[in-house]
Amino acid sequence: MQLTRDPVTVQILTTPHRTAPPPAIEKASEEGDRVRALSPADRKLRMINLGAVLVPIVGLVMVTVMSWGWGFDWVQFGVSVGMSLATAFGITVGFHRLFTHRSFRAPAPVRYTLAALGSMAVQGPVIEWAGTHRRHHQHSDGEEDPHSPHMHADGSWGDGILGTLRGFYHAHVGWLFAGRCKGLGKYTKDLHADPVVAMVNRQFLFWVVAGLVLPAVLGGVISLSWTGALLGFLWGGLVRILAVHHITWSVNSICHLWGSSPFRSHDESRNNVLVGVLGMGEGWHNNHHAFPTSARHGLTWWQLDTSYLLIRGMALVGLASDIRVPDAVRIESKRRVRAEPPFQPVNRPESAAP
Ligand SMILES: [Zn+2]
Ligand SMILES: [Zn+2]
Repeated sequence: MQLTRDPVTVQILTTPHRTAPPPAIEKASEEGDRVRALSPADRKLRMINLGAVLVPIVGLVMVTVMSWGWGFDWVQFGVSVGMSLATAFGITVGFHRLFTHRSFRAPAPVRYTLAALGSMAVQGPVIEWAGTHRRHHQHSDGEEDPHSPHMHADGSWGDGILGTLRGFYHAHVGWLFAGRCKGLGKYTKDLHADPVVAMVNRQFLFWVVAGLVLPAVLGGVISLSWTGALLGFLWGGLVRILAVHHITWSVNSICHLWGSSPFRSHDESRNNVLVGVLGMGEGWHNNHHAFPTSARHGLTWWQLDTSYLLIRGMALVGLASDIRVPDAVRIESKRRVRAEPPFQPVNRPESAAP
């Protein structure tokens, strides 16, 4: 492993990712992790998640009806876009590339801000999000993957269009109703040990509420009306949550079904152009599974990766350092050879995890 400093500190990965720093993942009882029957706590969580999925849709219906009657409000739309960008970067740069994969380092105020913004996206507390995602990488498209469109705890989703639709639904949103992912503690010891991350994790509900109140206040102040406050709540709160939810979930569903897979990654991950652009670079998902600790997901010049651009911009002003990216030799060493057989989804042993 070597370091370069051009023009910011970028750590070039020349060693396999399995030797990377945290997450420290221990082997655990596979059977013990599975969720066969929902406990009362699981059923409660399912209802909460159902509300988190459905209420933003109600918000979209309401702004559509209000726009129909009063005209489209570009200012409120702008508030929604701004809140979407801020909270989406909280997920992509914060929850995913910083906290889950440790692909760069950041000072405490930056870690706090990114964790708070990601919490506003209403995708669960940061430590649970990161633990679930680390489990996804360790078991990607195997039976223990929390949200594979190919496999679940009891096997394949089936063949044909119906099997694909069942898998798509589960990977996109259905997995949220399958009960809490058990045994995540072994994936997240380093995050519990970070007092900044642990603090924001405890404050999750506060930041969810703040993410709804803030656009309402903005909308009300800009228009100096209660109607403006309501529109701010709907546009910058609920519609924004809906948009960021489904773009994030498209990485789990679309990017394990449709697109190209130029790299060997031991799973069905795909690079999908549409999700790549809309998902702030997260849709270059085959690249990501091949090089999970890389801060850069768009590995060629045309693969737009706005999250990586933001990380590089943060580094220029001292807000990020030790940015990890694979060097050209390592990238070529993982490039898929045309004659290779396609990936067969099976439950792999722990040693095959990234
Ligand atoms: Zn994936
Ligand atoms: Zn990841």
